[in-house]
Amino acid sequence: MRASLRPTSSSKYDTPDAKARVAKAIEQLRPAFAERLSVGASVREQHGRGEAFAQGYPPDAVIWPLSTAEVSHVVKVCNELRVPVIAFGAGTSLEGHVSAPYGGICLDLARMNQVLEVRDDDGDCVVQPGITREELNAQLRDTGFYFPIDPGANASIGGMIATRASGTNTIRYGTIAQNVMALEVVLANGEIIRCGNRARKSSAGYDLVRLFTGSEGTLGIVTEVTLRLHGQPEAVGSSVCSFPDLRGAVDTVMELIQIGAPVSRLELLDELQVRACNAYSKLSLPEQPTLFMEFMGTEAAVTEQFERAVDVVKSHGAAGLEWAFDEQRRAALWKARHAAYFAARALRPATDCIVADVCVPISHLADCVAKARAEIDAEGLVAPILGHVGDGNFHVLFLIDPNNDDERARMDRVYDSMIETAHRVGGTCTGEHGIGMGKRDKLLAEFGPSVVELMRKVKDAWDPNGILNPGKVFDLQ
Ligand SMILES: Cc1cc2nc3c(=O)[nH]c(=O)nc-3n(C[C@H](O)[C@H](O)[C@H](O)COP(=O)(O)OP(=O)(O)OC[C@H]3O[C@@H](n4cnc5c(N)ncnc54)[C@H](O)[C@@H]3O)c2cc1C
Repeated sequence: MRASLRPTSSSKYDTPDAKARVAKAIEQLRPAFAERLSVGASVREQHGRGEAFAQGYPPDAVIWPLSTAEVSHVVKVCNELRVPVIAFGAGTSLEGHVSAPYGGICLDLARMNQVLEVRDDDGDCVVQPGITREELNAQLRDTGFYFPIDPGANASIGGMIATRASGTNTIRYGTIAQNVMALEVVLANGEIIRCGNRARKSSAGYDLVRLFTGSEGTLGIVTEVTLRLHGQPEAVGSSVCSFPDLRGAVDTVMELIQIGAPVSRLELLDELQVRACNAYSKLSLPEQPTLFMEFMGTEAAVTEQFERAVDVVKSHGAAGLEWAFDEQRRAALWKARHAAYFAARALRPATDCIVADVCVPISHLADCVAKARAEIDAEGLVAPILGHVGDGNFHVLFLIDPNNDDERARMDRVYDSMIETAHRVGGTCTGEHGIGMGKRDKLLAEFGPSVVELMRKVKDAWDPNGILNPGKVFDLQ
């Protein structure tokens, strides 16, 4: 286990008294939830870990609420008894976010999954937090709108807000933070509040919507969300091109961004990741560093954008330029891109897949990617690289034998070096996955003690008993 995934020991939770309080909370809550409360070992186990790490910490019970009032009831009881509450969306987070190192009650929001309203005139909608991004888009299909934020997993909207998620469309649509307009939130004392509004902009006071966004379930439980929607584009064209080396691909990205080319998706796969995708998704792409690009607009605009991009791409030595207007081929290519994580895992089954996630200013992208690749190779690790490089965000998928300490130490060296480099050039230790348990020390490295202390004061003011997802974002004190 990575050192930073270990919980800090806390006498606050690890006492007979704490265990008795959890038992009391479960007994108090059981009548209201009946079969929607489970203490079964396999259910708890499933809810105690997200993706990536084999090891997790199960909660003491899992509850499936159906309404805001039910969420409020659970949180109120837990606050009175000082019992941890961990919100759970789809469980796809990658940094131990949903683990329950201090036990407590997991609130699985999957059954709060309704689209409550779609407002055509304003292009927004109101949803419950448990709906997944794919289900939301399925329900929007006939409205002419869609919700473009697309992390590689079929995450819930609540989980995406809590981790400040993004995906392949960030260059065009921003992250989820730019697409959340208003929230209903249950605070740590069970109080229900609403913040934000449906106006396209507002200067009214502190921006609490932004503060809840990325707070990883540590400041409140999101129970209703107003989202900005976008019109389905008239035409979409995709292109795939391979490069003789990684630098050519990354330099292409930089040039496209610098000239303001209106690309909507710009994704990089290194040679090893292409090999993995070919095998997993039955493609036959040249096994070379590859860019997936997408353009949106009218058919004429898309063609013009593509032609502009071709000149740049070719000047960096690209070959094998494939152009896909056809819906089926496009869908197959992007499906393969979205399955990249599972394709990588299949390269080395029965290993942990630790996904590094740094984001750097675009002018440093080529050097950072090249440095990471050189260090991975020097350490003899199996680790494909891919990324939403259009916004300077890249991932290394370390495939690590969980029983090989030396291999884990070599991974830590590369990963630490990637983060140190990102910090040195003005980037961040996480572009989109968040801090969870895995990167608490990196948050400190990124901002220093004064800023982290200020964040902790916000947490203490809003959750004085520390019941909301304890041990995430910061160590317990
Ligand atoms: C294959 C794969 C690809 C991925 N690709 C991307 C990517 O491209 N971009 C990206 O950003 N991420 C990516 N991720 C990570 C993951 O999908 C995101 O972090 C996602 O936002 C998590 O959503 P979830 O519903 O699974 O949340 P969970 O894992 O269930 O929870 C995540 C955090 O949110 C909190 N939470 C959940 N619901 C609520 C709520 N209603 N109120 C308050 N807190 C809540 C939880 O307590 C926890 O701290 C990927 C993961 C995988 C496995």
